[in-house]
Amino acid sequence: MDLNLKELQVWFVTGSQHLYGEEALRQVAEDAKEIARSLNDVPEIPVSIVYKPVMTTSDSIRRLIAEANADEQCIGLVMWMHTFSPSRMWIAGLNMLNKPYLHFHTQYYRDIPWSEIDMDYMNLHQSAHGDREFGFINTRMRKERKVVVGHWKDPEAQKELAVWCRVAAAWDDSQGAKIARFGDNMRNVAVTEGDKVAAQIQFGYEVNAYSLGELIRYVDAVSEGQIDSLLEEYEESYVLTERVRKGGSERGALRDSARIELGLRSFLREGGFKGFTTNFEDLVGLKQLPGLAVQRAMKDGYGFGAEGDWKTAALLRAMKVMGAGLKGGTSFMEDYVYHLDPAGSRILGAHMLEVCESIAAEKPVLDVQPLSIGGKENPARLLFTAPQGPALCASMIDLGNRFRMIVNKVDVVQPPADLPKLPVARVLWDPKPNVKVAAESWILAGGAHHSVFCQAVTTEYVEDYCAMAGVEYLLIDEKTEVKTFKQELRLGEIYYHIAKGI
Ligand code: MN
Repeated sequence: MDLNLKELQVWFVTGSQHLYGEEALRQVAEDAKEIARSLNDVPEIPVSIVYKPVMTTSDSIRRLIAEANADEQCIGLVMWMHTFSPSRMWIAGLNMLNKPYLHFHTQYYRDIPWSEIDMDYMNLHQSAHGDREFGFINTRMRKERKVVVGHWKDPEAQKELAVWCRVAAAWDDSQGAKIARFGDNMRNVAVTEGDKVAAQIQFGYEVNAYSLGELIRYVDAVSEGQIDSLLEEYEESYVLTERVRKGGSERGALRDSARIELGLRSFLREGGFKGFTTNFEDLVGLKQLPGLAVQRAMKDGYGFGAEGDWKTAALLRAMKVMGAGLKGGTSFMEDYVYHLDPAGSRILGAHMLEVCESIAAEKPVLDVQPLSIGGKENPARLLFTAPQGPALCASMIDLGNRFRMIVNKVDVVQPPADLPKLPVARVLWDPKPNVKVAAESWILAGGAHHSVFCQAVTTEYVEDYCAMAGVEYLLIDEKTEVKTFKQELRLGEIYYHIAKGI
């Protein structure tokens, strides 16, 4: 997706105090500047790391935090106590802060200079206990933050920082984001429902419904010339089947699909939407279910959920932002069919049509074929398979009193044979630790049949995202055992009930 994360800033804030004298403070500032500059140049860190003056008083901290809160480019703060910084002076600032922050527990020098170390050195390089003081006040104030430990040149610490920066970018993107919902959700389905007001309070995005009539106006306004150029783009990008090529029996249906795509795109662009949902039960005025249009919109970074699933649409958008510029795609997904062979159980993921082409291993095939439900004309869709390798499936559900994220680590595998009669894009995966434990845990946790499938980011991203949002995070991976997972579910019920207060 087209997103320049370098335009976003993470402020590098260093704490100290006046006890050590001006000379020491000057050194603290120089060291902090060097660290900020060096982190800014780490290729994996996609945002700008911006040095801020060393904080030594409660007043200056409050002013800085007020500035950070109001600054449109600032998506979060990295904080580090180079020396001791009595943390009562951080209380007022932390109380006001409304952006995510990361506590970087680092130290200017990596190694102790054994033969040189004296009391001056000890005074200046004491983040080992300065950061503990800062940690205490955060914990005392019950503040959610990420703690990263390691030398600032250590690639592992830099990687953790980079993950958090990407998640902070997604969090920032979510604030005030608009999700368009065409119609309501698929009738009688429970998991796609939820409290949109609660979601707006918790995640910052808003979900608004639009009638199909409003979309149709944009679809009708599309010109034949626009359709012709889009068809040219299709021809360049995909392998067209005989029937959708020029003169083919379904060429007309492909034109209809292109018209829907152009209309949908102008609707989303004009309204400044970052995601949308459709519903095959509500297609009044559309000739076919938007398949290709949705696949291509997702590729460009729009969040999407089928059957009115706005939670998945918003989550997909967030994960698109986290993964911007990284290798691997991100798509709307649904657990469809099992392969229950004890020698190698698998899950076949797909959807009726709406799988994002960012996860295609090969040049997609463009086709028009009948859809057995929905009662509309034959829709266009891209057909492909996802590449082998690690991936994850993430599902956000509304439990009535709170949101819960469930994530399953999976390995994408190659289908053992062709699937010539399956006219949808698909992914075959081996869930961790295996289908039996993964599916039992997922079902006990209430995970949806819809999910966000991602090969660009890892579970650490989703964990950081949940921490920022303050929602429950449940991981199903190679270490998961049903017995302990059940205990985790019970503990979560208690914790989130009590932690929420009234
Ligand atoms: Mn579905």
